[in-house]
Amino acid sequence: MSSDPELFDKVVNLCKRRGFVFPSAEIYGGFRSTYDYGPVGAQMLRNVKDAWWRSMVQMRTDVVGLDAAILSPPQVWEASGHLQNFTDPLVDCKNCKNRFREDKLDDPNTCPNCGETGTFTEAKQFNLMFETQAGPVAGSGAQAFLRPETAQGMFTNFSNVLNTSRKKPPFGIAQVGKSFRNEITPQNFVFRTREFEQMEMEFFVPPADAQEWYEYWCKERFDWYLEHGIPEEKLRLRPHDADELSHYSSGTSDVEFAFPWGWDELEGIANRGDYDLRQHAEHSGEKLDYFDQANNERYTPHCIEPAAGATRTMMAFLMAAYDEDEVNDDTRTVLRLHHRIAPFKVAVLPLSKKEDLIPTSKEVLALVQPRYMSDYDETQAIGRRYRRQDELGTPLCITIDFDTLDDRAVTVRERDSMEQERVPIEGLVGYLSDRLD
Ligand code: ATP
Repeated sequence: MSSDPELFDKVVNLCKRRGFVFPSAEIYGGFRSTYDYGPVGAQMLRNVKDAWWRSMVQMRTDVVGLDAAILSPPQVWEASGHLQNFTDPLVDCKNCKNRFREDKLDDPNTCPNCGETGTFTEAKQFNLMFETQAGPVAGSGAQAFLRPETAQGMFTNFSNVLNTSRKKPPFGIAQVGKSFRNEITPQNFVFRTREFEQMEMEFFVPPADAQEWYEYWCKERFDWYLEHGIPEEKLRLRPHDADELSHYSSGTSDVEFAFPWGWDELEGIANRGDYDLRQHAEHSGEKLDYFDQANNERYTPHCIEPAAGATRTMMAFLMAAYDEDEVNDDTRTVLRLHHRIAPFKVAVLPLSKKEDLIPTSKEVLALVQPRYMSDYDETQAIGRRYRRQDELGTPLCITIDFDTLDDRAVTVRERDSMEQERVPIEGLVGYLSDRLD
């Protein structure tokens, strides 16, 4: 496993330098581990979420989408168990006054900040949910929470979806969106933040088939990361030990990535039994089950949940794609991103700013822009513009030069090999489609 502390700094610097991720409210000194996604970061994050949605919803007939509210009443979190149990153990160091999550300490008696031993307070259970109030009047009925996961929206809408989508078990409900956790120690850039995005799916199955579907989704989700360009040696599927499992789970596995600090979670796949639907049925008084007409039986479906982080996965894609190679005695930085994840698929680059080249360059842009997210850049030496696109992970650069005016062909340069090929403008769309679709 690679452990490259320099890689972390290099990726964080690249993110700032090229407009992937900025510290939030930076002009005011930043705000507590929150981040803003810049022009290329916003595009890349969108691509991560689109790639997930494509695999999980678009390409399947047994999963439908949902976009549920972020604000929710306490009843939801009472039923789900979050109000009582969504806590982390918090300890204070009496010497340096820093706070830590006890379960993440290498040594539970030694402060990692000041190095003193035996200075921790007793662990307190700290609830991670952000609480707020809906409406101008405080008091009962106004209490609200920002969701700490997207999953509960799928359980509370189980009947709505069942009654409107013509699906029956086995079927899933998928959602992508923001979640909020008041993490005690947000850390490692966008790996652990208080505001983040999740990509979650609840897959409802007949109880007898739950184990089989659990294994199916473990494989399916692991393969998704491979298909989108993370090398196999940087990924592993780690089944939880019995003492790590929540009381309702009969199996959980994490997809882990080799981050610069070690293996860490990208996604958890859990066999949650009928816990969630039963809890909500009990607390709401509504029936949340399924009547199987073929077998004349009513049952509460069991649920398999693949729960991934979009922002955390974007960071893993960046870490896995970052590379440096030597070109003409110079170090080239390149993001070897899968084309579906890369912010731009193509860059249209007139060789120079000379006026003769601009109409044809704009013609080429008009051809590719409706089909592929494209960058257009006409200033600086062409070599520097190629380097910039390499750092953004753009798979293909299209250069319009003076020969283009005679032969109506452009040069297409491939990011990883840097090989160049002459392609007629007339055949360009077909050529790009072979490479990118
Ligand atoms: P951890 O043990 O790291 O706190 P978790 O096991 O509680 O995480 P889940 O509740 O299973 O995480 O959430 C599913 C996914 O959501 C995680 O695998 C991760 O990718 C993402 N996620 C969870 N918390 C955060 C966070 N604070 N910042 C960014 N992503 C997060």
